[in-house]
Amino acid sequence: MLHVRCSTRVCHVVPCVTMTSPYFMHSRSVITRSGAQNAASSLRSKLTDRRSNVDPVCSVAVKVKVEEEEEEARIVAQRPSSAPLSTGGCQPKTGTLPLCAHSRRKRQVKVEYEKDEGVTPVKTEHWEPPDWKKQLGYIREMRSGRDAPVDNMGAKKCYDPEAAAHVRRFQVLVSLMLSSQTKDQVTAAAMQKLRAHGCTVEHILTTDDEALGKLIYPVGFWRTKVRYLKLTSAMLQNEFAGDIPDSVEGLVRLPGVGPKMAHLAMDIAWDQVSGIGVDTHVHRISNRLGWLKEPSKNPEETRKALEEWLPRELWSESNWLLVGFGQQVCLPVSPLCSVCLNQYSCPSAHKISPTKRPEAGSPRSPKPKTEPEQESTVKRERTKKEPLPTPVPPTAQRRRLKK
Ligand code: SF4
Repeated sequence: MLHVRCSTRVCHVVPCVTMTSPYFMHSRSVITRSGAQNAASSLRSKLTDRRSNVDPVCSVAVKVKVEEEEEEARIVAQRPSSAPLSTGGCQPKTGTLPLCAHSRRKRQVKVEYEKDEGVTPVKTEHWEPPDWKKQLGYIREMRSGRDAPVDNMGAKKCYDPEAAAHVRRFQVLVSLMLSSQTKDQVTAAAMQKLRAHGCTVEHILTTDDEALGKLIYPVGFWRTKVRYLKLTSAMLQNEFAGDIPDSVEGLVRLPGVGPKMAHLAMDIAWDQVSGIGVDTHVHRISNRLGWLKEPSKNPEETRKALEEWLPRELWSESNWLLVGFGQQVCLPVSPLCSVCLNQYSCPSAHKISPTKRPEAGSPRSPKPKTEPEQESTVKRERTKKEPLPTPVPPTAQRRRLKK
């Protein structure tokens, strides 16, 4: 029986704890709040006395037990005197002190774990094509001449700069509607005729379908476009006071206006970048250059995939750059890979048109040769064609000389 008491006064009595170790069998530890340290040191001295009879492994175990008991005594000493000292729910089946202290620590770990539940951070991986900056730089270089059809006849060039602001915006929308499936040259010519006739909401509504058809002919799907122009003009007059909507949601509600037109109209007419205007050129080139994580099936898929990684400040420029590049170099059929600055990094280079060269007279074709250059080329060609004289063996030469 082991009783530990404070020498001056007994402050608080804890329930007795039975020790299951051989060293604690039949022992009972009574620890007081103020005399906890004394109890531990007394216990240690008692155990030290017995150490001579203990094997090394057991000795280590005893040391651990003593330290744990000290820990327990410290916890007890810190507990308020009014608090019950009952081990309560953590009372181990064996009733040993170390297990009780251990289970307290375990419970704390559990609480922390529960706190972490539901706060699992969602990792989002940023992806971008490896060479896109270099490739975009090369496209800028190839587009530096600004001599593509889009530069002179695109939607930015088709409205009347002298007209009122809402009329200019309407004309931007009309030119975008006409440009679908139509070359820029044809769209620009149709817009010139329309503007001369009067390209306002009121004029379109008062013009009959046949006359309107003649004005916009030969743009692609001109009959359908006549119908869309009439329906859109009526909607603008009734719902938007003759102006065009200033949001993508409003614009796509108009008959014949899709997301590409809506984003371009927002950019050109309202000077607001809402998304990338992806037409057939942007869609094709993005796929050829490997600018999409997965190949896309349509322009809308391409737009979403590009907007995931392309910095927003480049959204407006990307349409203008790629459309012109697609009109001059990265053509839909037979792209001019041999003159493209991206041919060494583009995964599609020379796969679509291995031998295609720019047409004679096109801005990308090689310069015509001067006369001396042409003469030297002709001479080289002749030398190639004329067979070299057959060498005569020396014996045959001697025979000929004798004769
Ligand atoms: S290398 Fe050919 S396919 Fe690739 S971007 Fe240039 S022109 Fe287009």
